[in-house]
Amino acid sequence: MRPRDDESRKGTRTKRGYPKFKKHCRSVEYKQSGWKLSDDCMFITFTDKFKSGKFSLYCNKETREDLFRSKINRVRIVRRADGYYCQFCLDANRKEPGNYTGNVIGIDLGLKYFYKDQNNNAVVYPQYLRKSEKKLKRRQRQLSKKFVKGKKPQSNNYHKARKRLGLCHLKVSRQRKDWSIKQARCVVASNDVVVYEDLKIQNMVKNHHLAKSISDASWYQFTQWLEYYGKIWDKAVVSVNPKFTSQDCSNCGHRVKKTLSTRTHVCPSCNAEICRDTNAARNILSRGLEIVGVEWNQGTVGHTGTS
Ligand SMILES: [Zn+2]
Repeated sequence: MRPRDDESRKGTRTKRGYPKFKKHCRSVEYKQSGWKLSDDCMFITFTDKFKSGKFSLYCNKETREDLFRSKINRVRIVRRADGYYCQFCLDANRKEPGNYTGNVIGIDLGLKYFYKDQNNNAVVYPQYLRKSEKKLKRRQRQLSKKFVKGKKPQSNNYHKARKRLGLCHLKVSRQRKDWSIKQARCVVASNDVVVYEDLKIQNMVKNHHLAKSISDASWYQFTQWLEYYGKIWDKAVVSVNPKFTSQDCSNCGHRVKKTLSTRTHVCPSCNAEICRDTNAARNILSRGLEIVGVEWNQGTVGHTGTS
C-alpha cells in the first residue's frame, strides 16, 4: 500500500477536509469520518464536499459480507483510467495451513528469464505480456504524434489518444500483476524455504532502460507476493545481498570475474562449468540457508529436508 501523501504536504495545505485528486496522486484517503456506508453495504456516500458524492459498490458477495461484519479503519478512493475504486482497510488475519514439501529454492531474477532456480529450471516471461507491452509502446507513439508543442488546449484527438494509452497501461499492469502473483504463489506452495536477491541493493548499480524498468516493476511485485504467501503459509522467505552472487563459484567459492554477456560460469579452480544464472541461484540459495540455519548438500539439491 502506498503511504499517505498528505503528511508531506502539510505546509502547503490551505483547507482541511476537502480531498481532491491531484494530477500525480490519484488517491484520497479517509480515516473514520467523511464517509458513510449504507446499511446494506450497497452504497458509500462521502459526506464532505468531495464532489463525487455517492458511489454504488460493485463487489462479490463475500467481500460485501466482510464489509458488513468488520470494523473499517480506513477508506481510500483510487482513480484509475477506467473508473473509481474504493479500498477498505480492515483488520484481517489470513492464516492457512501450509503444504510442506521438503524442497528449497534459490531464485536468480534475470532479463533473459524471469527467474532461474538452482536446478536450472527457468521461468520465462510469457509471450502475451510481451505483446501487450508492444501495444503500449504503439499507443505511446500515437499519442506523441497528436501532441502539438505549446498548444493550449490540446486537440480532442490528443485527449482521446491519452485516454486510450491510460487504459492500455492499466490493462498491462493488471496482466503483469496477475501473472506475478500466480508465479509467487506457485513458488511458495512447492517449497519450504525460498531465497531471493534483495533488489533494492541491486537497483542502484544497474542501468535504466525501458525493458529493464518493466521487469524491475514485476520483480518487485513478485518478491512482495513471495513474502505474503510465506506469511500466510508459515514458510521461510528470505532475501539476501546479491553482491558477487554471479561472480563467485557456487562449487568452491572462487571468484570468477565476468561481464554481463558471459552466459556460462567456468571455474578455473575446480573446473565447474554451469549456466551463469544457475550458478547465481545456487549462491543465493546457500546464502539464504545460512541465514535460516538449514544444511544444504549441493549434491542432493531440492531433496534436503528442512527438519
Ligand atoms: Zn569453482
